[in-house]
Order: sequence, then C-alpha cells, then structure tokens
Amino acid sequence: MDLQPVLDGIVAALAPLAGAEGKVADYIPALACISPQHLGLALRTCEGAASQAGEGAQPFSVQSISKVFTLTLAMRHLDERELWQRIGVEPSGTAFNSLVQLEFEGGKPRNPFINAGAIAVADRLVSVYGQAGAKAALLALVSDLCGEPVVFDEAVAASEAATGFRNMAMCNFMKGFGQIDNAVEAVLDVYFHQCALRMSCVQLARALGYLCRDGAHPLRGSEQVVSERQARRINALMLTCGTYDAAGEFAYRIGLPCKSGVGGGIVAVMPDRLTLAVWSPPLDEAGNSLLGQVALEQFVSRTGLSVF
Ligand code: GLU
Repeated sequence: MDLQPVLDGIVAALAPLAGAEGKVADYIPALACISPQHLGLALRTCEGAASQAGEGAQPFSVQSISKVFTLTLAMRHLDERELWQRIGVEPSGTAFNSLVQLEFEGGKPRNPFINAGAIAVADRLVSVYGQAGAKAALLALVSDLCGEPVVFDEAVAASEAATGFRNMAMCNFMKGFGQIDNAVEAVLDVYFHQCALRMSCVQLARALGYLCRDGAHPLRGSEQVVSERQARRINALMLTCGTYDAAGEFAYRIGLPCKSGVGGGIVAVMPDRLTLAVWSPPLDEAGNSLLGQVALEQFVSRTGLSVF
C-alpha cells in the first residue's frame, strides 16, 4: 500500500484545525512560546521506505518520548531482573508527574514511562555511565539509530532545570525511600537533558524502527538494538503505559503501542509493519497532543492497521 497519499490526506484534513483546540505545554517556559499551528507526520516501514507530510522534518522537543530511548539503553546495559525490581510495569492511572503512588509503594515507580519511572531509569544510567557519560551514551544511541547527529536543546534543558520543581520533589522523595543511588542533581541533569532531545518526526520514525523490526537496528538489520523479547516488552509498555493516564483510551481509539511527550509529539508502532510519528503542540488535559491523536486515529482507520 502506498502510504504517502494517506499522510498527505491526513495533513490536508487536519491542517485547518491546527492550533484550534488544546493548550501548548507552558509549565516549561522554553516550550510555552512554540506555535500551536505546527503539524507534522512521518512514517518508516520495516523495509525502510519513508514518507512524511506537513512539517515532518521540523525538529521539536521530544520530551517524554525520550523515555523509550533511555529504557532501551537501560535494558541493553543492565541486568533486567534488577531493573524491574526497581521499576514496575503497571499503568499508573495518574498524571505523568504524580507523586501520590510513590508514597504507598515505597518510592518504587509504577512504570518507566511516567516521570518518576524515567527518573529512576536515569539513576540506573548514571550508575552505569556516570552523569556526563549517561548523556553521551544517550546521544550516541539516538544518533546511531537515526544515522545522523541528534543534540539536546540546552535552552529547554536549562528551562526545565530552573522550573522542574515537581521532578525535583519526586527524585528527592524516591531518594528518601532509598530508591535512587546517585546524587539527585546528577540524576535530574540527565533526566532534564533527555527530555530536551530535539528530533523531527522523520528522525523519530527512523530511530524507533527497531520496535517494529523485532529489535533489529533500523539501518543495519543484521544488528540487534535489543532482543526480540525486549522489543515486545517495550511495545507492551508503550501500549499500557505510554500515554500517561489515557493509555486505555489510546488502545481503544488507536490500537497501537504509542508514546507521547508534552512537546506535542506521539510515536506509534505497528509491529512487523512500520513506525509512525506525529507532531502537533496543543495538548489535552492528560498531556497528549490533541490533533496528534486525531491524526493517529485517521491513520488507523484509513489503513486498517491495528495490533488487535
Ligand atoms: N520534561 C517533562 C517533565 O518532566 C516531560 C513530561 C512529558 O513529556 O511527559 O515534566
């Protein structure tokens, strides 16, 4: 099936609605000034055919989508049993930045895709690589998956470091439970930088290609990024936990493993077929891109793709 007309049709249908509803994330000052009008889409098939539409090539702040890359890095380099003793695999049913469950669960985050879980993953990475090394390892992984250099937006990272009081509270709270091994400042520096990765939909669809290829590298198929089983597990976590407390609604409406970020990006995986990335900055109340969800819904209804 030629998917370029599908992407073009979605952009043509949705461009008039861009910016009409929802609210750009403004709790991170550096993101508050992003135009709500942006709209981009890109996909890449398992075989490597790529298509894009609208502003598919425009880089933006990937925010929580980075949690997929840091989890991947942790799964590659850590003992998985130890990793899953420190971080759960259950949907949280609460907001991405909620502290509530941590108190009842001994400081153990529900899953790696909420902020608390990603901060715990960042702590594991600091243990393995050190603070600067963890940031370098993340950039190296993502750049390798993209086949071109990817960088942090230092202004966004600094903006988060200046205003990320809830994340600081969360990291300190977990440290109080003995769940964070490294200095809070080092862990948060890694976390704020990972959120500030700047990538386009084209790069995201390419970089996450290993998730639709049973873990095989998107550009060098003979190499595994993660094992087949690990790729299945990451997809399962995206389906159940990847879109904050709207994962049930995403599964119902879209039916694909997805991961969203408050920069307005959402990535989706159709195992054995393709990866898809959308970007539209205005968010709904749960923190997911409003038009991004509509774009994904249109994509699955126009193509019939679903994991169900
Ligand atoms: N940097 C954001 C935060 O920590 C990421 C949130 C997100 O994209 O879900 O609040």
